[in-house]
Amino acid sequence: MRRFGYLAPKSVSEAVSVLAEHAAVAKVIAGGTDLVVQMKDGVRRPEVVIDITGIDELRLLEERDDGLHLGALVRMGEIETHPLIIEKYPILVDSAKLVGSKQVRNLATIAGNTCNASPGADTPPALIALDAQVHVLGPRGPRVVPIDRFFVGPGRTVLEPGELVTKFVLRKAAPNEGAYYERHTPRKELDIAVVGVGAWVRLNGETIEDARIGLAAVYPTPLRATEAEAALRGKPFGQAALDAAALAAVAQARPISDVRGSADFRRWLIDVLVRRAVTNAVARARGGGPRAGETH
Ligand SMILES: Cc1cc2nc3c(=O)[nH]c(=O)nc-3n(C[C@H](O)[C@H](O)[C@H](O)COP(=O)(O)OP(=O)(O)OC[C@H]3O[C@@H](n4cnc5c(N)ncnc54)[C@H](O)[C@@H]3O)c2cc1C
Repeated sequence: MRRFGYLAPKSVSEAVSVLAEHAAVAKVIAGGTDLVVQMKDGVRRPEVVIDITGIDELRLLEERDDGLHLGALVRMGEIETHPLIIEKYPILVDSAKLVGSKQVRNLATIAGNTCNASPGADTPPALIALDAQVHVLGPRGPRVVPIDRFFVGPGRTVLEPGELVTKFVLRKAAPNEGAYYERHTPRKELDIAVVGVGAWVRLNGETIEDARIGLAAVYPTPLRATEAEAALRGKPFGQAALDAAALAAVAQARPISDVRGSADFRRWLIDVLVRRAVTNAVARARGGGPRAGETH
């Protein structure tokens, strides 16, 4: 690993000012579970590493009038065990619990998983399903980016040099809503998604009033499956709606063939997992369904 400078700001405003000063050559480090690996492999070579782990403001985790505020530094391990998240936002538990090992989850942050912008990352589809708003602060002030417009390519986001993700805001969960994430991997743990699907629904009786679907590992970015959502919206929950949503999601995806699976296998998995994710999201909206994190 090459030598690099190290800065450890103690507040968000200090972080933004040191980030702006070194914007072209700096990288933020949170849990380091992606960045350190990339630096060791020489994939990333920042001249300055800005350690944000000492900034307590970024550890926020609370429900306010407008919804759940999830600070950038909230770790996977905290999401898995937090009673409020387990009760009201179980899809976050489903996805966080699948990330790496316990050791990885004790370091890995929600913003790191998002900002790394891997097409196969597990929490972005859940955040897409929950319509998360990404709060960003940079030299030109704050801005809010809807999660489905945050990713622009593999490893690339809309973040400008010097910008920091501060938190995610998720709309308050309502009783007639449910959401669920599941992925396929050959191994149960310590493996990357071959396909991942997060689904959120709002029911009105037997009708799916609204739906959002996020997909992992089937497109150059985490993908919002808008066509599948449209196939569900306003339809009675049942076989016909599931058939239409699965077909639409497969059509919108652009899976590649790689060591984890062929494009055809991925298309087949999208079909299976969209049906399963929507069915389990509906079950949760009805007050039942799998417990948080019970995705296998
Ligand atoms: C063994 C192993 C297994 C893994 N398995 C999985 C898996 O199954 N599923 C999965 O999704 N991931 C997996 N990962 C990847 C990794 O754990 C996650 O992507 C993790 O959430 C990254 O968070 P971090 O805090 O460690 O990020 P870091 O490594 O600190 O940062 C990642 C990137 O995000 C940027 N960044 C971090 N925080 C901010 C911020 N607040 N604002 C702006 N930019 C920021 C950094 O500059 C860097 O580019 C695995 C990793 C390992 C090592």
